[in-house]
Amino acid sequence: MSFLLKAGLVYTGTGEIQNGWVHVRHGMIIEVGSGPAPSAGEVVDEPNCVAMPGLVNAHDHMYQWATRGYVPDGTLFEWLRALYPVWARIDAEIVRVAARAAMAKLLLSGCTLSTDHHYVFPRGKPGIFEALVETSRELVRILREEAKVL
Ligand SMILES: [Zn+2]
Repeated sequence: MSFLLKAGLVYTGTGEIQNGWVHVRHGMIIEVGSGPAPSAGEVVDEPNCVAMPGLVNAHDHMYQWATRGYVPDGTLFEWLRALYPVWARIDAEIVRVAARAAMAKLLLSGCTLSTDHHYVFPRGKPGIFEALVETSRELVRILREEAKVL
């Protein structure tokens, strides 16, 4: 299974390639270049687009998507004081739904790697960590089905 992405500009992170291409096999980039492109099972040619590495989000709290809009004008500590009692009642399903929204937003903005600094595990609310892992696996499965190249 191979895939070739041709783009008007390929940004590699260290340089730019005009009218470049990215060759992917079994989900791994095996070659980047310009000029005559290697053959591939699937070719996407986007001469008016930029291809670039996925962005990295090194710090997130995905469960907080469930309470977006709470205390919008408060200071950090006003916000935290207002929300800790709310977060103390979250459960796995709330975390799952919030994580889906957070991960979808990240993917739609070009982020392909993220961490979740989840630290709220209320007593008597099992399965929160599992919900996060299952949600990330669910989105990877969807991406694989949609892209068929990962
Ligand atoms: Zn933080």
